[in-house]
Amino acid sequence: MNKNFSNCFVLVITTLCIYSNANAQKKEYPKPDPMTPNMTEFWTPQPKIVTPGKSSETVIPAPSDAIVLFDGKDLSAWEDSNGNPAQWVVKDGIFTVKPGSGSIQTKQKFENFQLHIEWRSPETVKGNGQGRGNSGVFFQGIYELQVLDSYDNETYANGMAGSIYKQTPPLVNAMRKPGEWNTYDVIYSAPVFKNDGTYRIPPTVTVLLNGIVIQNNTTIRGTTPYIGLPETVKHGAGPLSLQDHGDLIGFRNIWIREL
Ligand code: MG
Repeated sequence: MNKNFSNCFVLVITTLCIYSNANAQKKEYPKPDPMTPNMTEFWTPQPKIVTPGKSSETVIPAPSDAIVLFDGKDLSAWEDSNGNPAQWVVKDGIFTVKPGSGSIQTKQKFENFQLHIEWRSPETVKGNGQGRGNSGVFFQGIYELQVLDSYDNETYANGMAGSIYKQTPPLVNAMRKPGEWNTYDVIYSAPVFKNDGTYRIPPTVTVLLNGIVIQNNTTIRGTTPYIGLPETVKHGAGPLSLQDHGDLIGFRNIWIREL
């Protein structure tokens, strides 16, 4: 093979390769249909109902080493998602969602913690399913522990009160009646990430509702969206946030201990 012919041969092969690569990039593969909300809603089994022990009308004060996030006075520990003062309504030692004003979050950011928070849905029942007494507690501003009036109000099990939203239903339904106070006691471990942004250790959580274990060292599989599957989003310390879902959920006695 003479040198010119050889050079020409290499050029033709290279050109063919580039052409074929360009064609491969143009190749279209089937795309999945867009997901709809009901694709991640699981209705059965419905967690069995457990009646919690009698509620106490006396607020149990925070322990000495806790960071008090709300003690009945004001929302100075909180802000809206733009960093402006929280607009929710403080009255008679509790605060209530101000519908339309948006979610609120703590000014302070957290990683691992023990959290105590008390909440109640309005005594006058309005709406049903997800439209009754909906709010949420977001760990590190990302992972939702659902707040819902789940007393005599069925919805998908992985969306009821105490669920890790659209992931893990509570072990049992230990709700008190609308208008009565419920307590969440939470032990949360923040995720650890690899350099590539995936979980080395995913977040985990244990939750007691009214003194009854409803999440037992549950692995949180990622974000908790209304539509779609959990995703892994790399993050650092984050606030505790509370959801404005348009319902008049009241909160009181909120404190946290960093672990
Ligand atoms: Mg919610």
